Amino acid sequence: MEKHAHDIVIVGAGLAGLRAAVAAAELSSKLDIAVISKLHPLRSHSVCAQGGTAAVMREKDSFDLHAFDTVKGADYLADQDVVEFFVRQAPREIILMEHWGCPWSRTPDGKIDQRPFGGHTYPRACFAADMTGFHEMHTLYGKATTYSNVKFYDEWFATSLIVENNIVVGLTAIELKTGEMHTFKAKAVVMATGGHERIYEFTTFSHTTTGDGMAMAYRVGAPLEDMEFVQFHPTGLVPSGVLITEGARGEGGYLYNALGERFMKRYAPEKMELAPRDVVSRAEQTEILEGRAFMGPYGPYIALDLRHLGEEKINERLPLIRDVAIKLGGVDPVKEPIPIRPAAHYSMGGIKANIRTETPIRGLYAAGECSCLSLHGANRLGTNSTAECLVFGAVAGEEAAKYAMSAGFHEFPEEKALAEEKRVFDGILGSEGGERVPQLRDEMRRLMNTKVWIFRTGEELKSALKEVRTLKERFKNIKVEDRGKTFNTGFTAALQLDFMLDLAEVTIISALARTESRGAHSRLDYPNRDDERWLVHTLAYYTVDGPRLEYVPVTITKWQPTIRKY
Ligand SMILES: Cc1cc2nc3c(=O)[nH]c(=O)nc-3n(C[C@H](O)[C@H](O)[C@H](O)COP(=O)(O)OP(=O)(O)OC[C@H]3O[C@@H](n4cnc5c(N)ncnc54)[C@H](O)[C@@H]3O)c2cc1C
Repeated sequence: MEKHAHDIVIVGAGLAGLRAAVAAAELSSKLDIAVISKLHPLRSHSVCAQGGTAAVMREKDSFDLHAFDTVKGADYLADQDVVEFFVRQAPREIILMEHWGCPWSRTPDGKIDQRPFGGHTYPRACFAADMTGFHEMHTLYGKATTYSNVKFYDEWFATSLIVENNIVVGLTAIELKTGEMHTFKAKAVVMATGGHERIYEFTTFSHTTTGDGMAMAYRVGAPLEDMEFVQFHPTGLVPSGVLITEGARGEGGYLYNALGERFMKRYAPEKMELAPRDVVSRAEQTEILEGRAFMGPYGPYIALDLRHLGEEKINERLPLIRDVAIKLGGVDPVKEPIPIRPAAHYSMGGIKANIRTETPIRGLYAAGECSCLSLHGANRLGTNSTAECLVFGAVAGEEAAKYAMSAGFHEFPEEKALAEEKRVFDGILGSEGGERVPQLRDEMRRLMNTKVWIFRTGEELKSALKEVRTLKERFKNIKVEDRGKTFNTGFTAALQLDFMLDLAEVTIISALARTESRGAHSRLDYPNRDDERWLVHTLAYYTVDGPRLEYVPVTITKWQPTIRKY
């Protein structure tokens, strides 16, 4: 195995990873920084972010208002110290992005424009038309490539973290071009590997969003926090699940059922279509279950109507949405409503990290969607995620840099890398069974889509757990047809499924244990929020027999939990 060494290794080159790289490089030109990504950075899912990035930019808005909206949106499960820090840092990030060249959309008098978004009481989503993530990513990638001490390893697949005595000492990664495993020694490692939405069948996320980093950290002893909280976005385009941004409703779009009713009046009479995502998704799912949805060749759907906005506004503010609806949905939103239904969209849970992005493993940091700080609690507000990636990507870069400047390299246990090589090449690529990876993957996704969806019950979750464990057993008996070395996508699909099966199991077990309904976690058998018992974060630890759960309290600074109504 070829060996590399860098002071800091960042795994992931989405918004969080790139922001971390820039922050670390700014802190010291002497640090040797590597960014490893299984994709070219500009293919990271962050490029798909559409609607905007939240920040307080106007005098009429306030930090307290943004913080309260976030805490209420989170159904009071967010750690409020993290929220307060976040809202104060977000405007700085918007201005930095501006200086680095991000083409924000503007008001007629030249200010950075802001649009309304679900659950925010003030229009605070800064945006670049409906391609915000695309422009942010190009800005940050351009910036990151100007530093001579940042080295990119594009199309390298990290397979494991190497940890000794609870200190991270490096990792293993496969160069996809050659199929060879290499070792990376590091003083600090930042995980910025994104979410795990592809454990679901109907999702807005890229096929590559398979939660690898969460699973890698979990396997070496870092706890996964609040994994039962998966966000469902109200407007996944039928039939693909591709996202129609909440910005479409922010600009004034309506939701209709088959009776022609704007049904949100029954569920959130004040906020209507701009209630938070958990509320709107539950409303849609109820309309579907009670038979008031439209029926089409791809099952039931709800109508998202933008026609009253007019062609000019749609072209100016939502050009990507129009294009996507025409090409992938077969409808022109200027003339017809768009068929949508809820889709898995965000992972509130992730690698447990504190306000400085430190995980319980020394030298290991986590930022962006793979982490859980916990900023979003039980339900994230739209536009808070890209903002989180910028704010806490920067924190992770700075903290990792400070730590790396004061720490030395630790000894890298070669035997652990050899064991990993054996697990991956003999155990997975060399496995001689009869099970096919796409088949197991489809079964897992369908299972998550039916039994671990918007409304959950103990019975279904128990049955889902049993099934996912059977899938894990069957995985031991797979066969990857292609035994080639170069860009073997069948092989990476198997590695990703192995990670996803662990994450599906943790998601189900955490959901089964939480006998209440809060935010995105809605139990039909426990319909109420139960602050007495459940105002706590779930921590899931890896054991050979499956996840072991522990609970820790929520940090409350200013806002005591009250009834959440919109
Ligand atoms: C369609 C869509 C629209 C969205 N719109 C918005 C929005 O308007 N506003 C908002 O705030 N949020 C939005 N979100 C959510 C937001 O975009 C994401 O949460 C955020 O971009 C995640 O960024 P990240 O840096 O954490 O990870 P990602 O951008 O997902 O990047 C993950 C990185 O990790 C790398 N990686 C993963 N596994 C490995 C491995 N094994 N080895 C090496 N590298 C690995 C990948 O190559 C990639 O570079 C949207 C999401 C979607 C899907």
